[in-house]
Amino acid sequence: MKPILLLLTLFFSIQSYTYSQPAKTKTMSDTTKKNPLYSNTDTSKVSISDDEWKKYLPEDVFYIARQKGTERPGTSKWEHYKEIGTYYCTACGNALFKSDTKFDSGCGWPSFYEPISKGSIIYTPDHGHGMTRTEVQCGRCKAHLGHVFEDGPPPTGLRYCINGVILDFKKAKEAEENYKQQ
Ligand SMILES: [Zn+2]
Repeated sequence: MKPILLLLTLFFSIQSYTYSQPAKTKTMSDTTKKNPLYSNTDTSKVSISDDEWKKYLPEDVFYIARQKGTERPGTSKWEHYKEIGTYYCTACGNALFKSDTKFDSGCGWPSFYEPISKGSIIYTPDHGHGMTRTEVQCGRCKAHLGHVFEDGPPPTGLRYCINGVILDFKKAKEAEENYKQQ
């Protein structure tokens, strides 16, 4: 009797496992996608497959962050944005730039002359499109952000040319509260 009981138990536990899975036909619109990796305070590195990213990121963010896309110039709401606060990575919430290092470069994308910290960004040589450029990626999740050029204003002389789609902004007060909670 015992082996049969065991089999029955197994059978029913497999059944209940199967039924507890969410229906695969269920589709979520981009606006309701929940991204469990997003955090303004967690600095641990994020390394997941593109298939997983696809579950968490809206299409336009996925295209920039994971496929190294470029948004059309002049289309970002952040390009001429003047509010005081912090810009974060839309994909993972990592702090990237402070608003006081933002400047109007006229290049068509939000531009900064300095990242918020050394570790907030990763630099990679990019030889694509017949040019030699330096790609900048998020230091936490490696999302493609844009490129850095050496024609920026003082004090750094650098111009971080960033796709607005991958930037998330929080006003100073809100950012301060997040900082206090750490
Ligand atoms: Zn990131």
